[in-house]
Amino acid sequence: MHTNLGRAPLCAAAREAVAAASGYAVLETDPETGTRTSRQRHVTALLRELTGAEAAIAVNNNAAAVLLSLTALARGREVIVSRGELVEIGGSFRIPDIMAASGSRLVEVGTTNKTYLHDYDAALTPDTALLVKVHRSNFAIRGFVHEVAPGELAALGQRAGVPVLFDMGSGALVDLAARGLPSEPTARAAVAGGVDVVTFSGDKLLGGPQAGLIVGREAIVGRIRSHPMARAVRIDKLDLAALEATLRVYRDPDRAWEAIPVLSMLGADPRALERAAHDLAARLRKQLPSTAIVEVRPTIAEAGGGALPGVELPSWGVAIRPTDAPVETWERSLRVARPPVFCRIADDRLIFDLRTLGSSDWPALEAVLKLAASGAGP
Ligand SMILES: *Cc1c(COP(=O)(O)O)cnc(C)c1O
Repeated sequence: MHTNLGRAPLCAAAREAVAAASGYAVLETDPETGTRTSRQRHVTALLRELTGAEAAIAVNNNAAAVLLSLTALARGREVIVSRGELVEIGGSFRIPDIMAASGSRLVEVGTTNKTYLHDYDAALTPDTALLVKVHRSNFAIRGFVHEVAPGELAALGQRAGVPVLFDMGSGALVDLAARGLPSEPTARAAVAGGVDVVTFSGDKLLGGPQAGLIVGREAIVGRIRSHPMARAVRIDKLDLAALEATLRVYRDPDRAWEAIPVLSMLGADPRALERAAHDLAARLRKQLPSTAIVEVRPTIAEAGGGALPGVELPSWGVAIRPTDAPVETWERSLRVARPPVFCRIADDRLIFDLRTLGSSDWPALEAVLKLAASGAGP
């Protein structure tokens, strides 16, 4: 996933739903009665089912979900956050700045590497509106570290009568550890652990369209839903159609692992990728001129898009070394081609990682590579 390249590619069902919703749609109309209803009704029901939360809403993106939640729950009051979680997400989303924009007052506790439950406890005042936990989606800290788990913070919030918000960031809906990947918090676990409100993105590990999901207790989510700013960060009908279709796939987690591209790429078996790399290399050797040297190589893939930071996924790629032109010349021809093709350069070779390349993509890749080969010569 790459934010600059549109993050998660949509699953087939979501693509079809977007096409269907692109004309007139029964967006806010109940077909039974012909009267007005909420555009959120289907995603709300699905999110409640998939996370076990009492209430759920979808907004434009997770940045909006966090800003809206802070504004609705803590404007003019204090919000406690660990110094180890005052993060910046790409595109100038910085937790301290978002707090300021919401009109709430940031109260920092703990240190960069260690924050304990008693740090939060000691900072509680009658003016505390919210305890906030932020997932470190795009970096990792190692060594002499301690952080407070969402459930522990939820227990403190319950004792003190202060709601707890968890900005989960990348937003996995399935247990990644069950497929041999590093474990990521899930919304269901956070809700079960007593967190009052959880926010996450639709287009990171969830593998859907751009969206911000807010799930949690009705008493808290209701305050967020009815805040005037909610209308300003409303989700649009195409996003909503794609989100609903993606969430429906998750009702059967095994199907989700196959049908949602982000999950199928993350879960791909390296041995299958190695076989595919040999197949693709054999096809390319037949089609490309002898000025292109085609090899199969082991690679390291990353999730990207602010998810699973530092996690290296063993993978396989096809490497192409042009002998008639600098590798950058080929790389540029690929980028400006139709469809545009983006690859990595390593060791003077173009690297095409099979983890991101389904066999249905091969014909387009072959055509674009042939063009690059013909235009790259002297
Ligand atoms: C990605 C991320 C955001 C922003 O989400 P968008 O959907 O890109 O707006 C906010 N908080 C965390 C922790 C994130 O990882």
